[in-house]
Amino acid sequence: MMENNKEVNVSGFDKLYPDAETWDMRNYKGLALMKEKWTYECICGNKTKWCEFDFEEPLCSEECAKKFIRTKMYVLMTLKQVKKLIFSMKNIDPAIKATIANEINRQNGKIILKIFRANLKQKKEV
Ligand SMILES: [Zn+2]
Repeated sequence: MMENNKEVNVSGFDKLYPDAETWDMRNYKGLALMKEKWTYECICGNKTKWCEFDFEEPLCSEECAKKFIRTKMYVLMTLKQVKKLIFSMKNIDPAIKATIANEINRQNGKIILKIFRANLKQKKEV
């Protein structure tokens, strides 16, 4: 009887970087990706060891990484507009404006992840 010659399902970043070992890093379109020891769940539901280094966000593939990049750019551009608006406000102490701008900078990572993961939450609630 013939053995079912089923290949190991390698996809996403494992396919793109087949030579990567645990703790290796790769630069994907400006994102620092690390292949970690443990397996995590990507936003799409796939299991992956690849995580974005700065945010520790699991990203399994180019498709999911592109989504992350788009979300990050969108949030950063929007927050830049918000800061511009705050600095254009009259009769507000410049120190207060600076405090608000610093707070926005401090929170931007959290905001990026919240918006990125909002899609996952919506899918799971269906
Ligand atoms: Zn994914």
